[in-house]
Amino acid sequence: MINFKDLAKEYKTPLYVYDLDYMSSQYSELKEAFKGRKSLLAYAVKANSNLSIVKHFADLGSGADCVSIGEVRRAFLAGVPHYKIIFSGVGKSDDEIREAIESDILYINVESEAELGRVELIAKELNRVCRISIRVNPNIDPKTHPYISTGLHDNKFGVDINSAKRMYIFANNSAHLDPVGIHFHIGSQLTELGPIRESAEIVADLVRSLSTIKIDLKFFDIGGGLGVQYKNEVTIKPYDYAQAILGTLNALDMTIVCEPGRFLTANAGYFLTKVLYEKHNGQKRFVVVDGAMNDLIRPSLYNAYHKIEAITESKEVETLADVVGPVCESGDFLAKNYSLPKLEHNDLLVVHSAGAYGFGMGSNYNTRGRSAEIAIKGGVVKVIRKRESFEDLIALEREFLN
Ligand SMILES: *Cc1c(COP(=O)(O)O)cnc(C)c1O
Repeated sequence: MINFKDLAKEYKTPLYVYDLDYMSSQYSELKEAFKGRKSLLAYAVKANSNLSIVKHFADLGSGADCVSIGEVRRAFLAGVPHYKIIFSGVGKSDDEIREAIESDILYINVESEAELGRVELIAKELNRVCRISIRVNPNIDPKTHPYISTGLHDNKFGVDINSAKRMYIFANNSAHLDPVGIHFHIGSQLTELGPIRESAEIVADLVRSLSTIKIDLKFFDIGGGLGVQYKNEVTIKPYDYAQAILGTLNALDMTIVCEPGRFLTANAGYFLTKVLYEKHNGQKRFVVVDGAMNDLIRPSLYNAYHKIEAITESKEVETLADVVGPVCESGDFLAKNYSLPKLEHNDLLVVHSAGAYGFGMGSNYNTRGRSAEIAIKGGVVKVIRKRESFEDLIALEREFLN
């Protein structure tokens, strides 16, 4: 059990706390599910990009799925070998593509015909051969929140099957492109296996059809998206997930690449915030805390639910309250209509499931320094990112000089 009260006292709030041992067990469970097959878990760095977290996964043997060259650099710094790094994302700049090619990463996940053209041109300029994979959009409804759904034709990710086929033929004929993989990622926080299986089937069929024209792909990249329990969701078991995927491959001898983010880190993280005071506006009860949407934006952005545990001496019955931060936006809340006992100044709230898309989506809005991050492994506590100071926030600003 983590002693949140002691941690809050020592490291102050707002504070992110990560349980690295929990991350390890999630990693092992997923890796184990694919045993008997060649597989690579490439941690989706955007879920929690702290260098110590990326390094933790690198030490377990993980690769890295990156969506900017900044994330690629993080992966290298954290010790992920170049042959385990993937560069995905719908809009890559020429500089990013150039650096990715020069770094000799495993492959670039290409998301459009135009991008494929840029990648070829840049590879040619560098006189290199670039390994690529194409992100296919199987047009399957993943049945998750629309903001985190990515596998339908009306969103910006990937290309349809026919375009993908054309692109593979183009890449195969190019002296500067080496098509090695195929990729799909239909959304995040997936809790239904059906859409994943259907997508995998569509993509596996494309692989077989390419194989008949002598384009043999090596990596079957199933993206990330495995959901976790925030409230009472029934989640997909890694074993069932792996079986569903493997069932679509039949005789295809490919390496499975999986890009989990949330699954590995969400429930390993806690966000600690202190009560400043309570206030009542008419019938409405508010608990005002020192953490805000600039620290954890998921409630504001997706109306996401996070379990909140109150650490208090209060014995009064629970009533409904909105938990709100100090930021000047009505959308600044961590919970709405949440049942909590009466709280006092300095009582601690532990916001659960905050290890994915928490700190990384943070900002400095309202000139608020971002929280410190600490990690625990085998009972040892370390600061893995210092709290931002006012000086940190203004360090890059310059006076306008005439
Ligand atoms: C965001 C993303 C992931 C990780 O998604 P999770 O839901 O956190 O597992 C993996 N691959 C790609 C291409 C992504 O964009």
